[in-house]
Amino acid sequence: MLIFMRNSASESDVNRVVERLDEFNLNADVLRNGTAAMIYVKDDSVEVPSLSAFNGIERIVHTEARYKLASRNHKPEDTIIEVGDRRIGGGNFCVMAGPCAVESVELGLEIASLLKSENLALMRGGAFKPRTSPYSFQGLEYEGLDILVEIRKQTGVLVVTEAIDVNSVGRVEKIADAIQVGSRNMQNFSLLKRLGKTSKPILLKRGMSATIEELLLAAEYIISGGNENVILCERGIRTFGNFARNTLDLSIIPAVKEKSHLPIIVDPSHATGKRNFISSMSKAALAAGADGLLIEVHTNPELSLSDGGQSLNPDEFKSLMVEIRKLASVMNVNVN
Ligand code: PEP
Ligand code: MN
Repeated sequence: MLIFMRNSASESDVNRVVERLDEFNLNADVLRNGTAAMIYVKDDSVEVPSLSAFNGIERIVHTEARYKLASRNHKPEDTIIEVGDRRIGGGNFCVMAGPCAVESVELGLEIASLLKSENLALMRGGAFKPRTSPYSFQGLEYEGLDILVEIRKQTGVLVVTEAIDVNSVGRVEKIADAIQVGSRNMQNFSLLKRLGKTSKPILLKRGMSATIEELLLAAEYIISGGNENVILCERGIRTFGNFARNTLDLSIIPAVKEKSHLPIIVDPSHATGKRNFISSMSKAALAAGADGLLIEVHTNPELSLSDGGQSLNPDEFKSLMVEIRKLASVMNVNVN
């Protein structure tokens, strides 16, 4: 950490900061350039509350990230997350697909057989739906979880489904192979803390206005709670662009790879809101180094209870998989 003191800061201002740092066992070196002073603290891992409130401080620059366990410094090699027999990260590209919401056993069985015909295993589908409007379909909730159990039992597919609050985590964790945290809940800290206590992998979606630091700190909540199995997901952010539902921020992929060992996948459905953008953005995500995709697929998007406009139909999904496999083979990436 570097603390830049104002030119006008007095000797006693500098001393008071150094003493405060000392209370936290932080060794400070005071560097001087004429009248200006700068205080250097090598250990940036200890948080000194309200340090900027001290008189004479111009600005504080952190030289280390506030997330630790999620950082590349902590773990240089890529983390590979296993969901059942599937792998995400470290050269393994995992395609997860399914309806926005769990609607019926029949729909789930059709999607499961589509996935199996593509040698894929992870089906997405929300039983609890965090909808912007209280008048929109809220999901089948506990009945939706029962439907997922039935589909899993009949087909052997693995299920990824969302937990929207602490109350329902217990039931979700019993049946899910991976638990999704939605964009709107990325900073629901009590939920993140609770998910630190489960052994199930967590699919953590980036908040629609979250910085990379906020995303990695959200992951840090889960990891520091005891669960190292976190998969990040870029799902588009809010910008002034109005031709798509959100702006897919693909540049976060190389940025995350630099800063963190965690895998990151891309959700082109929520990122674009448009079914005819999904194929190009999926290929772009793979080319940019993403570790997988989360795609909405419905047997009949026109009749979907939510997000049909951003859901591929089975034929479109199959065509996309042909292209994904071609690109993956050039990139020497294992699709699973
Ligand atoms: C979802 O994937 O079901 C979803 C609601 O997406 P998001 O949280 O990214 O809006
Ligand atoms: Mn959706």
